[in-house]
Amino acid sequence: MDKLQEIESKKASLIEKLKKVTSAKEISEIKSEYLKKYVKSLYSELKNLSAEEKKSFGKTINDFKNFAEEKISEAESKFKAQKSSAKYDVTIFKDNIKIGAEHPLIKLYKRIEEVFVGMGFSVVQGPEIELDKYNFEMLNMPSHHPARDMQDTFYISAPNVLLRSHTSSVQIRAMEKMQPPIQIISPGTVYRVDDIDPQHTPMFYQIEGLMVAENISFANLKAVLTRFLKEVFGEEVGVKFRPSYYPYTEPSAAIDMSCTKCGGKGCRTCKGTGWITVAGSGMVHPNVLEGVGYDSKKYTGFAFGLGLNRFALTYYDLDEIRKLYENDISLWNQI
Ligand SMILES: [Zn+2]
Repeated sequence: MDKLQEIESKKASLIEKLKKVTSAKEISEIKSEYLKKYVKSLYSELKNLSAEEKKSFGKTINDFKNFAEEKISEAESKFKAQKSSAKYDVTIFKDNIKIGAEHPLIKLYKRIEEVFVGMGFSVVQGPEIELDKYNFEMLNMPSHHPARDMQDTFYISAPNVLLRSHTSSVQIRAMEKMQPPIQIISPGTVYRVDDIDPQHTPMFYQIEGLMVAENISFANLKAVLTRFLKEVFGEEVGVKFRPSYYPYTEPSAAIDMSCTKCGGKGCRTCKGTGWITVAGSGMVHPNVLEGVGYDSKKYTGFAFGLGLNRFALTYYDLDEIRKLYENDISLWNQI
């Protein structure tokens, strides 16, 4: 009977197809073709047969059905096992992979460093866990000095060990070791007790700078900081120095820059003033110079400090400091 030969070749083709499957979908298509459609077509032929033939052909159909079921089920479990062992198939192509980007704070810091190094400054680092002596006392802030309240400090073990509230501490450490002329910047993380809001975080990055030598005047401070801001934000940016107060400098000046968003016309970012405060600065207080053993009659110097996070808000035109900590790579790639 031709039909028996057809069934045998169908068995052979089933085995061949199952060997080549690459997806669960293919297995289910094979299942449908062999177990549903073909078996159904075989059953439909029973009606044309005699009772005797029906019995024997019925058995042949059942044998085929069992055979197909067994082979398909074997293929299914083999496929599942292969799939789970291929969990880390590095050859699998994925087309929407997000590529990492340099963090905007690091990118901006590198730019700032480049400008200062170009002007002859060298980079000095110091410890984040600091002694009161370096963080306050030698910066003209003895205990009970009211200016200490300007910086709410995290203490590791009060009253002497703390998390530095500014990187000015590094300037003291550097001056203790080096003799003038000295020209350094000290970047790093600093800590202050602060609630998190759009403009504040208890940990932030600061870059402070110091230049001490003979005949250093406020004119040098103005020249260096103006050059720096114009290098980073462009020649068109306006810079002004406004009287301010810091215990470790005298005189002291806050540095304002014309608002980069509105060009000085006044907008929400600059609160309508056309200016944004970007740094603090001043001439190093003689007490600070004397405290590290420098002759304050011979040497003078200036110091400045800027908050990198705040600076980044202006530089990247962001409205919230928190965005810098949210690890949103799509943002990193945009800015
Ligand atoms: Zn503005």
